[in-house]
Amino acid sequence: MDGKMMAIMKAKPAYGAELVEVDIPKPGPGEVLIKVLATTICGTDLHIYEWNEWAQSRIKPPQIMGHEVAGEVVEVGPGVDDLHVGDYISAETHIVCGKCYQCRTGNYHVCQNTKIFGVDMDGVFAEYAIVPAQNAWKNPKGMPPEYASLQEPLGNAVDTVLAGPIAGKSTLITGAGPLGLLGIAVAKASGAYPVIVSEPSEFRRKLAEKVGADYIINPFEEDVVKEVRDITDGNGVDVFLEFSGAPKALEQGLQAVTPGGRVSLLGLFPRDVTIDFNNLIIFKALEVHGITGRHLWNTWYTVSRLIQSGRLNLEPVLTHRYKGFDRFEEAFELMRAGKTGKVVFFPHRS
Ligand code: NAD
Ligand code: ZN
Repeated sequence: MDGKMMAIMKAKPAYGAELVEVDIPKPGPGEVLIKVLATTICGTDLHIYEWNEWAQSRIKPPQIMGHEVAGEVVEVGPGVDDLHVGDYISAETHIVCGKCYQCRTGNYHVCQNTKIFGVDMDGVFAEYAIVPAQNAWKNPKGMPPEYASLQEPLGNAVDTVLAGPIAGKSTLITGAGPLGLLGIAVAKASGAYPVIVSEPSEFRRKLAEKVGADYIINPFEEDVVKEVRDITDGNGVDVFLEFSGAPKALEQGLQAVTPGGRVSLLGLFPRDVTIDFNNLIIFKALEVHGITGRHLWNTWYTVSRLIQSGRLNLEPVLTHRYKGFDRFEEAFELMRAGKTGKVVFFPHRS
């Protein structure tokens, strides 16, 4: 397909990004070109926008940003036989090698040679984008594109929440940012009760309530451990899900989880965190999971079906919808200020 398109470009190694007109890319061997119907902003995109230390070490501008996406295949590159023009797809954003020890033992989510769209190559904050066919995920026709785009971060939330039994389990979720909010939706849909959420931001506590949290705590004003014990008849929660990356939340959660309970950690902490391992993990016989990315492809099946079941309360999580990219700077600044859940762009106005 020839022509021009608008794209949000990390143009320079500095704060911010630019809305630019560029050529519509051509799909190479094993790739497809999609018309982007919806694309959502991830915390990683914000790091790239802010040009933090991680972004400086990893990103090579100029590069189109973005990786969470839903779109329609409009052109198929050579050698692609399982995707066709008109297919409605989302994309797993981790491109795995299929050859390393982890891939060959089924642990694709920890592939040693992972590459990521919008990080290691051009991304999807554009009217059209290239997707490697091996990373395409076919969506059912009726799924709204903004939900289809959310499947990628929902995969993180599903892997965190469903890393162990959850139905009928008392659960503490620390952090109700975009991912924690998705975690609340998954926990509620999966039968966790009560779902207790700790979140300092008033704006996000309100979102947590709308998504369906049963109890909500402000960790800066209340004693999280005492509140959790009061709610759980003194036992503490069965499951602690960490979505904040705040060392204090980790400590409080480890104190609030019942001995023998389960801990799944998604939030990324500063490098050095001090924890009383003996008393908070070992003597409590906790089951602790590190969560990274999404299991390929089982998590995608779970996510797709959970959306199709109609049980996931995603509407309150999608706080900002933009037609076109014109107001992208406003979107990023609102996200930086913590005044959003998930933000979605519909690149084509009609
Ligand atoms: P975010 O920064 O938007 O949300 C974090 C939330 O935690 C905020 O709402 C913040 O107010 C809250 N918070 C801060 N201090 C707290 C405390 N003491 N107690 C409870 N809550 C507190 O981030 P996000 O985009 O929702 O992502 C959540 C975390 O997941 C981040 O740490 C991110 O880096 C991490 N992450 C991990 C992976 C992975 O594969 N492991 C993937 C994506 C994101
Ligand atoms: Zn690999």
